[in-house]
Amino acid sequence: MDTSSTFCCVQCRLLQPPATSCAECGSPTTAPVELVRELLYYRDMSLAGHGEWALLAAFLAGSSLALPLLAPFALGSVIALGVDRLRRARRKREIAGVAIPPAAAPPGAVTLYGVARRFRGTVASLIDDAPVLLEHVAIKDRAGAVLLRRTEGAPFLLELEDRGPVLVTGVARVSTANVLMQRLALRHGDPRLEKLGVPADLAISGDLEVASVAADGPALAVTGLLEDESVAELAFHRDGGRIPVMRGRVGAPILIGERRLIGAGL
Ligand SMILES: [Zn+2]
Repeated sequence: MDTSSTFCCVQCRLLQPPATSCAECGSPTTAPVELVRELLYYRDMSLAGHGEWALLAAFLAGSSLALPLLAPFALGSVIALGVDRLRRARRKREIAGVAIPPAAAPPGAVTLYGVARRFRGTVASLIDDAPVLLEHVAIKDRAGAVLLRRTEGAPFLLELEDRGPVLVTGVARVSTANVLMQRLALRHGDPRLEKLGVPADLAISGDLEVASVAADGPALAVTGLLEDESVAELAFHRDGGRIPVMRGRVGAPILIGERRLIGAGL
């Protein structure tokens, strides 16, 4: 993967295709990973808003050349953040992990239980290129904080136990700490980092946590808002292709866990 086309959300550390705001949390602090890499050494990126982010991005893009130009404007939190503090953080040599707050289900969300079935296609697992429907990869430091993460997936059908299928699509978060997840030690210069879009020289060490959803796998618990939509591919065997759809949206991802564990209250 070409890292120049990989963007990173500084707030939630999601690597993603080019975007003006984060595909999962909606934060405007999303920019090419090469541009924001200095910020990843810093744990607390509590920037106030678009304007300050734009200033900071301009500063980072122009490096020290931009500083004299920006200095007269930079009296807010951008400079409170401080070039000096960034430089000090940088000397820690490893990027700082952040705690990703658990995603909350939106009001009116329901939890459905069923088995994932292939719909249009699959994506290749980072681990072994096996076809999967959804995969969330998190790089975590030794304390368990998130350094970077990435989600790849395709829409899939959730075949329910007691009625027809539901189309699951859009922004999704696979909940961790279940058996969908594998933990792998990350080696220096690991080729899997490049596949994720991580610059080769970014100081990363820790573990890879990979949570995958495969077709026909173990039963899932899927939480989100249920709506009715027309889906062209399903029109041939369904009235006008109307089907219940769970569509994850920015700021309100679909939450996917494993049914067995949720049923057991773990
Ligand atoms: Zn984000």
